[in-house]
Amino acid sequence: MINVTRSSMPSFEEYCEEIKELWDSRWLTNMGAKHRQLQAELEQYLGVPHVALYTNGHLALENILTAMQFPKGGEVITTPFTFASTTHAIVRSGLVPVFCDVNDVDYTMDVSKIEELITEKTVAIVPVHVYGNLCDVDAISQIAQKHGLKVIYDAAHAFGVVKNGVSAANFGDASMFSFHATKVYNTIEGGAVTFADDALVQVLNDMRNFGMSGPESVPYVGGNAKMNEFQAAMGICNLRHLDAEIAKRKAAVEQYRKRLSGVEGIRLCPEQDGVISNYAYFPAVFDGYTYTRDEVFAKLCEQDIIARKYFFPLTNSFACYADYPTAGTEKTPAAAYIADRVLTLPLYADLSVEDVDRICDIILQVKD
Ligand SMILES: *Cc1c(COP(=O)(O)O)cnc(C)c1O
Repeated sequence: MINVTRSSMPSFEEYCEEIKELWDSRWLTNMGAKHRQLQAELEQYLGVPHVALYTNGHLALENILTAMQFPKGGEVITTPFTFASTTHAIVRSGLVPVFCDVNDVDYTMDVSKIEELITEKTVAIVPVHVYGNLCDVDAISQIAQKHGLKVIYDAAHAFGVVKNGVSAANFGDASMFSFHATKVYNTIEGGAVTFADDALVQVLNDMRNFGMSGPESVPYVGGNAKMNEFQAAMGICNLRHLDAEIAKRKAAVEQYRKRLSGVEGIRLCPEQDGVISNYAYFPAVFDGYTYTRDEVFAKLCEQDIIARKYFFPLTNSFACYADYPTAGTEKTPAAAYIADRVLTLPLYADLSVEDVDRICDIILQVKD
């Protein structure tokens, strides 16, 4: 069986060595030594002034949206071509998602459609670096500056992506990363917010810890979103091997590209200019191909190969948003078109070239 993803892990011995000290310190969570070490290592690795660690990426996004203290009911321009988390985080922070369509090249926010969605209620833009493809960060930053909006990136897919020497963690006012087991870099479950504004350090620290700034002072209505020491230890280990893991992913992606580029009816994302990819996902769009997306999905399934319809359904078609005036996939036709035709193929560091060939053989099988 080949699953869509398979978690990267250090050796058993390496992880045991890393967590050994916890049996001496008996300090298991609440910003312990491992937490502080991982935070410093990530600030260095990503080249950002500040990293705040979280128990998962979703709560990291909710926390930064709440920390911005937008007026309740403020509108946030985002895209529906993403994981449920992005839209839910906006709504759970008391804000209203306004869905912008995506472009049909890399499936990130269509920057030519942002300004027409801005109203006097708009407070922020939450674009998604979907599949690790970077958004048009320059255009988004220009629009945000012109209209006085904050930009918070859902960078869950973009850990390790670098554009012209600058890591994806440096764009906008803040970026959220997910370190979930299925992502390029994992801390079992985990996440982070990266940002430059010194004033946010204390706010985020307090907000992820019940809004408490000390044992007797509680300035914020906060929840519990702290990363624990076992998660941080996994992160410390996995960071040592990240570059090697990304290199292995690259080899798998190159084989996919070799087999599937130029095939009529199959569309692949082009490599982005000046961008070093993290090879997070390998989406293929079946548009006028011998088989439909659902047929390819089923053919792979028959052989115990699990691909994913990322991202279908679009978040603006979710039942929970049926009553929202901003919902409805007809407002985002390009996203709807791709969502009906896209399949992300299995991809992880240990996926062999032979496995990629087996998957491509099934996809390319002639119809009998
Ligand atoms: C994984 C993911 C999240 C949520 O991250 P968790 O760490 O699983 O909470 C948010 N947005 C996108 C686009 C994701 O893929």
